[in-house]
Amino acid sequence: MSTYKNFTVETDADGIALVTWDMPEKSMNVFTMEVMDEIDAIVDATVADAAVKGVVFTSGKSSFSGGADLTMIKSLFSMLAEEQARDPEAAMKKLFDAAGRMSWLWRKVETNGKPWVSAINGTCMGGAFELSLACHGRVAANSKSVKIALPEVKVGIFPGAGGTQRVPRLANAQDALQMMTTGSSLTAQRAKAMGLVHQVVEPAELVNAAKQMIKDGLKPVAPWDEKGFKVPGGGVWTPAAAQLFPAAPAILRRESAGNYPGALAILKCVYEGLQLPIDTALKVEQRYFTEILRTTEAFSMIRSLFVSMQELGKGARRPTGQPKTEFKKVGVVGAGFMGASIAYVTAAAGIPVVLIDRDQEAADKGKAVSEKLVADSVGKGRLTKDEGEKLLSLITPTPDYATLADATLVVEAVFEDRTVKKAVIEQVEAVISDATIFASNTSTLPITGLAENSKRPEKFIGVHFFSPVEKMMLTEVILGEKSGDRALAMALDYVAAIKKTPIVVNDTRGFFVNRCVFRYIHEAYDMLIEGVPPAMIENAAKMAGMPVGPLSLNDEVAIDLSQKILKATVADLGPQAVDERHLALINKLVDELDRRGRKNGKGFYEYPAKPAKKYLWPELKTLYPQKKAADVDVTTLKQRFLATIALEAARTMEEGIVTDPREADVGSILGFGFAPYTGGTLSYIDGMGVKAFVALCEKLAADYGEHFAPTPLLKDMAAKGETFYGRFDPYAKGREAA
Ligand code: NAD
Repeated sequence: MSTYKNFTVETDADGIALVTWDMPEKSMNVFTMEVMDEIDAIVDATVADAAVKGVVFTSGKSSFSGGADLTMIKSLFSMLAEEQARDPEAAMKKLFDAAGRMSWLWRKVETNGKPWVSAINGTCMGGAFELSLACHGRVAANSKSVKIALPEVKVGIFPGAGGTQRVPRLANAQDALQMMTTGSSLTAQRAKAMGLVHQVVEPAELVNAAKQMIKDGLKPVAPWDEKGFKVPGGGVWTPAAAQLFPAAPAILRRESAGNYPGALAILKCVYEGLQLPIDTALKVEQRYFTEILRTTEAFSMIRSLFVSMQELGKGARRPTGQPKTEFKKVGVVGAGFMGASIAYVTAAAGIPVVLIDRDQEAADKGKAVSEKLVADSVGKGRLTKDEGEKLLSLITPTPDYATLADATLVVEAVFEDRTVKKAVIEQVEAVISDATIFASNTSTLPITGLAENSKRPEKFIGVHFFSPVEKMMLTEVILGEKSGDRALAMALDYVAAIKKTPIVVNDTRGFFVNRCVFRYIHEAYDMLIEGVPPAMIENAAKMAGMPVGPLSLNDEVAIDLSQKILKATVADLGPQAVDERHLALINKLVDELDRRGRKNGKGFYEYPAKPAKKYLWPELKTLYPQKKAADVDVTTLKQRFLATIALEAARTMEEGIVTDPREADVGSILGFGFAPYTGGTLSYIDGMGVKAFVALCEKLAADYGEHFAPTPLLKDMAAKGETFYGRFDPYAKGREAA
């Protein structure tokens, strides 16, 4: 009888042990130390039991497994930091052993002497797929819920439990590199075509098919442990490999500008490992894995993109003592560009929505956006026809405010105009119940000011979406001065229900994300004015790790919107609040040249008819005397972009707008793609050290203007040797409570 906490083991009359992984109190199976200990024990027990002829390993949940629980690696980092101070050599040894723990356990499975078959019933990621690769057989269910991937590179590491060795011993090297350096998912069919799984069968047949492989005499020996094994395609000394391997680092550099050491390590592991017997190759992989775990990139990416994102998603900032909200109905007022998509994501979460606009026609037009999105998803097989119809049936377009009477939450997305919003707030409040929370999606109007139009400002809050709403994972929740705990709790419950990640921001002009984004764009204006060639501006930004160049981004958000914001800033704060050269540049583009961005086909770029691609507007170079490219230092351009954004994030912390460094980091990556390898804006500063950042800012301030001057907070932190995660420790409260 098995006594495992996370597994059941049932041996059938044929002597096949069915190991079912089903972790209690978890929605998904993940690897923890305990899980690995139990797998270790299962291997020993099945080897020792003469009645067991083979093992089928599967999951009792709808997915197979999401891979390792990376909080495990995060605690390894903390252990290491402490140990390193005491005994650096012992610390390294511990890290090396920990880095190889999973890999050698999978090797133990592979060489245990009895056949193991992995029965992949759903999502199978990272370490879970690496375990499957170490099994002698792999069967996957023919279901769209089966997604197979080695996504480690996305959090700064790489598949270090044998992935880099077994994938290119099964698939051709090019496919293997592609899969691991991008971290992209494979369908069951694609995995089979690549040679990574043996069979794809109907879901109901999965376990039987896996057992049948054993009954059919599956050999408990991996192909690479057989004498005479040959790597698919012939290994690294073939003409094909001579084409692939020298080009691979160049392609990687083009895609990621050398910012991701984990991705480069994959190339090294594959190239070196394929020339070695498997055990030595796994050791090589373990060495590179240890090295990568020690990089700032791995530390910061795991912290922000895994641990913090999960914590924020689970409501780290949710006030305690507030009951969880059940959304019976959400009202969306304003069925325009944003409102229509907000209605879609709400209905996609299974919540009934009333979508209100000024007349029925405008409301219907809003619903038509969902109809198009649903038709696209059905066309691509992401939704069934029934699912699509159900989603659409949840959206009721109407001009009738009375339908809001029983709404749990109302999201306002009408014109960005104080008078229009005031009227809508009053109209909505006339019908809603006392318990309903009112959320505004304004992007520029402070919530505190808007809440002055409300009779119940404690139930008034900002929920700021980003466009395209159905794709962007972040939502800013904005607290007005009087927003209460109930409003905050409900806003966070709503963001969680629609499966986005929230950050909680105190009220300020531009909130968090747009404040940072405009710093990015304004730095590009400065560069243009200095005469830096426009293509260099865009390329330097991408080399710094930004997904979209600042000029391209400005075209997307619209240049006349920038003009509107600059003018509003002057009106509210006076002319010194903006750079007059920026205003002159934008006025010229919008008022004289009618270059408003992508929306009118003319901006910093030209937009020829498809399929031709957009290109930088050639005349842009004539606006300012141009510098020679050779006289411009790309490294400095890159630093300017990252530093100006990071400085703005630091200012938001100093002003108490953002209070938790996790939110500045996650918000900057999900909100505008801030160089993910840094772990986000504040991790970028912590990663290089506040002292070094202050020195960099002082240098940039001397050369490029006072906006780079380090703030008092940064100087203080530099003097005291502090970090953002130390000074604004997000876990301090929890520790006090404990
Ligand atoms: P939009 O002009 O596309 O849509 C506004 C909609 O509100 C229109 O359909 C209009 O008919 C409707 N409307 C106006 N007055 C109304 C009233 N009294 N009652 C009911 N409906 C009314 O604008 P948008 O881009 O969707 O922006 C809406 C809000 O979202 C603004 O506050 C904007 O700042 C904010 N926002 C926009 C973006 C963006 O990228 N466009 C991003 C985040 C937030």
